[in-house]
Amino acid sequence: MSKKVFVKTFGCQMNVYDSDKITDALKIIGYKKTENLNSADCFILNTCHIRDKAKEKVYHEIGRVRETFLNKRKPLVIVAGCVAQAENTEMLKREPYIDLVIGPQSYHKLNETILKFEKNKFKNEITDFDTLEKFNYLDKIKNKKSKVSSFLTIQEGCDKFCHFCVVPYTRGPEYSRPFDQILNEANVLVQNGSKEIILLGQNVNAYSYQEFNKEYRLSDLIMSLEKIDGIERIRYTTSHPRDMTKDLLDCYKVSKKLMPFVHLPIQSGSDKILKLMNRKHKVEEYINTYNYLKGVNDRIEFSSDFIIGYPGEETKDFENTIKLIDKLKFINSYSFIYSARPGTTASKLEPIKDEISKGRLKIVQEKLFGYQKLKNKSFENKFIDVLVENEIQGQNKLFGRNEYMNSVIFEGNKNLIGNIVQVKVTKTNQNTLFGELHKKKDLRQHKIE
Ligand code: SF4
Repeated sequence: MSKKVFVKTFGCQMNVYDSDKITDALKIIGYKKTENLNSADCFILNTCHIRDKAKEKVYHEIGRVRETFLNKRKPLVIVAGCVAQAENTEMLKREPYIDLVIGPQSYHKLNETILKFEKNKFKNEITDFDTLEKFNYLDKIKNKKSKVSSFLTIQEGCDKFCHFCVVPYTRGPEYSRPFDQILNEANVLVQNGSKEIILLGQNVNAYSYQEFNKEYRLSDLIMSLEKIDGIERIRYTTSHPRDMTKDLLDCYKVSKKLMPFVHLPIQSGSDKILKLMNRKHKVEEYINTYNYLKGVNDRIEFSSDFIIGYPGEETKDFENTIKLIDKLKFINSYSFIYSARPGTTASKLEPIKDEISKGRLKIVQEKLFGYQKLKNKSFENKFIDVLVENEIQGQNKLFGRNEYMNSVIFEGNKNLIGNIVQVKVTKTNQNTLFGELHKKKDLRQHKIE
């Protein structure tokens, strides 16, 4: 009888991608994925260290699993991801309910570690940085799952060491996967039904793979994916402003599949704060990138990330952030109050008062949400292209996304899943567009000769 694994994922798209790969790998040793925690023989928590109180959330979650299995047979409990990397042996000491702790660069060792545990109940933590091995191993595991929109990790880790961020410590140094390995994986995804590929990396636009004296960059990947029949949409995330090189920007001139939506975190509109954050670029450089892309295609829109109340942020700095938002009118952004992460340079700085940060966040979010709603409203009574991703359970409604990643809901038959259709937008709110199906699009016009 096969065993069942329940995987819970916190955090970014890269964790979602990793969780899928882990699930595929576990099939080899007889574990099938379940959506029902109660029936699980193995529970994996894939953790994220970016958000506030990340560590406490993990222990809280493990406590809930313990309660679920009270008076029942205990499942194998594994903590994976960035909190596992940062805490390692500490987790096994603090919470005896945890059996294994595994960092993101060691997933290729997960199966053998589980098998050992099943044999001798040997509790273990594996937190080596072995990215090359990991991708070579996981690459051999074929993903049979069919998803209309698929993540594809091309790069991991970070060498930039922004002063607030734990990623360089939890994911290790920048590593770019071999060019051909990525294209092979993209082809498999397309064979399984993917129409959209979202290239992932902590610094996705720092992608750099050297082979036979040639450097392959993100722009080369985009232009190669462009030629794959079956791929209709290409996206990439998350980018660093410093790596928005001309070759990448110029892809927007020629690519028909690269979506006109750039998520480019800036964090602050003040050069002083960017310097304190060690972001290694200026606001003006960011604006230059924006202007360049708008010059290429004025339909291109930007979204960003903002950290509010970073240590040293004065009224003037905050006002500069607001000015930037008003100037660029980001259509969809994330904003958070700064909170210190243990071990980072910024954690040693004097924090600013909480009530000041809260007040500033409110102002920033009003601005950001205002521009977001305005953009969404601009779609009303217009026809938009929507890639249909799935059916909404229990309703005769379909869910898809437009070019700008907005959620779109409309009535339609599920045989449209995987197609690009035209939808007339009838109503919008901050997060969703609602509409009526107009017609199915002929995908042949997307083909590149
Ligand atoms: S670029 Fe900065 S924020 Fe992004 S992962 Fe690296 S250190 Fe973190």
